[in-house]
Amino acid sequence: MKSRKSNCDPDSSGYTGRFAPSPSGPLHFGSLLAAVASYLDARSQRGRWLMRMEDLDPEREPPGTDKLILQQLQDFGLCWDGEVIYQSSRLSAYAEAFRQLDSRGLCYRCDCSRQRIKALGSVYDRHCRNRSLPDDSDAAIRLRTDDRKIEFEDLIQGPQSQQIAQQTGDFIIRRRDGLFAYQLAVVVDDAMQDITHVVRGWDLLESTPRQIYLQRLLGYRTPVYAHVPIITNESGQKLSKQHFAEPLDAAHRDKLLTRCLHFLGLQPGPEISRLSVAEQLRWATGRWHIQAVPKLATIPEVSLIPE
Ligand code: GLU
Ligand code: ZN
Repeated sequence: MKSRKSNCDPDSSGYTGRFAPSPSGPLHFGSLLAAVASYLDARSQRGRWLMRMEDLDPEREPPGTDKLILQQLQDFGLCWDGEVIYQSSRLSAYAEAFRQLDSRGLCYRCDCSRQRIKALGSVYDRHCRNRSLPDDSDAAIRLRTDDRKIEFEDLIQGPQSQQIAQQTGDFIIRRRDGLFAYQLAVVVDDAMQDITHVVRGWDLLESTPRQIYLQRLLGYRTPVYAHVPIITNESGQKLSKQHFAEPLDAAHRDKLLTRCLHFLGLQPGPEISRLSVAEQLRWATGRWHIQAVPKLATIPEVSLIPE
């Protein structure tokens, strides 16, 4: 079975949010924080909150991780609306978006080696732009970028601006191994699910201009964006499976959720730790202000620990 339904369905307003984990590992404290922020922002506006499994890269996804993540969310009382969307079942929609861009001459093949790209640093130098590699070549597909400046107001991090051609360069929308890139898939699905608000981790802030650029090319609406700080370990690294972040322990869910509320600027008093996760979420939904979230890129995990 590729979908699960949750049983809570709030009144609907014009707001639709989502949580979109990649099932490369179970959620850790950092991903829980993003999920809680996105959930509270949606529920405080009587919005819908959808779930999307970003399972585009099977080699990096241990089987069963999707179910594990859904169970973790339920353990924390974070119930979503409707069916879970799996990106692995949406490939024809990505192919269609790609065809649209390609038919307008906006795409080109790039067979630059990994070493060459690495040596360039973060901006691709357009080496393959005018080489006209044939459609069937063993190559990645890049999108041409132009000189326009992408500007948007992040609800937490404030005004943002990126000169996309100079700061990112022509970027990959289909990988050399044939997999569609995150940037294309996320934009197609945010549009298909009518997402109005994207609340997610700060590490994706720099991807946002690319996503807005794609939305404009494909004629999609741009949602409102808010990027919450990411949690770092003692060495200053983002909590992640690669850095051996501890998986969430459901036995300590009340305390872990209280910690999330602290990190998100909600200032829960000591009495809150006696509440269940469902009661804490209700309490927090009534007090949520996205403006209270610290305007920071990262927060060390050791700070702000209650008690
Ligand atoms: N799947 C992405 C991740 O887990 C998040 C995508 C998004 O929220 O836009 O990092
Ligand atoms: Zn190239």
